[in-house]
Amino acid sequence: MLRKIGFASAMSVITLSSIWSASASAEPMKVVASFSIIGDFAQNVGGDRIELTTLVGSDGDAHVYEPSPADAVSMSKANVVLVNGLNFEGFLKRLVEASATKASVVELTKGIEPLKMQEDEHGHGEASGHGHDHGEFDPHAFQSISNAKVYVKNIADAFCAADAAGCDTYKANAEAYTAKLDAEDAEVKAAVASIPEEKRTIITSHDAFGYFEHAYGLTFLAPEGISTEAEASAADVAALIKQVRDDKASAIFVENITNPRLVEQIAGETGIKVGGTLYSDALSKADGPASTYIDMMKNNISTIKAAISGS
Ligand SMILES: [Zn+2]
Repeated sequence: MLRKIGFASAMSVITLSSIWSASASAEPMKVVASFSIIGDFAQNVGGDRIELTTLVGSDGDAHVYEPSPADAVSMSKANVVLVNGLNFEGFLKRLVEASATKASVVELTKGIEPLKMQEDEHGHGEASGHGHDHGEFDPHAFQSISNAKVYVKNIADAFCAADAAGCDTYKANAEAYTAKLDAEDAEVKAAVASIPEEKRTIITSHDAFGYFEHAYGLTFLAPEGISTEAEASAADVAALIKQVRDDKASAIFVENITNPRLVEQIAGETGIKVGGTLYSDALSKADGPASTYIDMMKNNISTIKAAISGS
């Protein structure tokens, strides 16, 4: 899927000889983040000591992203590469190989408790028949704020390892940002607590909210699986529509990274109104409602709450 010719020409202009060292240079540390949410964490921890490149940008879908030659160049020059892991970034292995990066590639889900894939739990999971391999675990760990705090700690550790001179700064930044995450976590919990229990079942297009469900106690149903790569079959959609009717789902949402067609079809057939857009695997553009991770969590829970109270 990678355009080999593009890579070859990009690679020919890269020199891999310069090994970066903070003490020897006033230049910022070069950090590559695989997608926008990790980019936001990295900027909060790194501040102006880092020069950040984010591969999959706002509203982008990391599941199906195809890297460009420019991404290989960024990777090859990076001092630290930050990724989600758990097979979230399907493009990653090929890109690391193509770029021949010397940077440490740090998986930020290290230390979280990964949730197993639960494809058949909701009864609409003929996903095993699709023939796609999504890995054993749900990769969307960032949808729980307590996991986000682990990502932030892992970033601070990685930055300290690569740039010892900046370690105190990274640790202080991580601590200040973690306090903001704690405050947002309390807000989300309070918002969920204010939703009547029988109204806590909602629908999104792909299974991105397993960790949110686990941490905060809403139930999410989705016609597509854990990756956007496998399309829902007609049988999946029919089973979900039946389940929506049986379980009396309260609201249905589109996602910023997926095609709204399926959700609109389910809304049309069940009479549930589309309650707005949830940001699942990517932040919004800078002028959108979810341009930072904290704003994304705020936006998602307030969108959910508004749709349910309006239903
Ligand atoms: Zn996803």
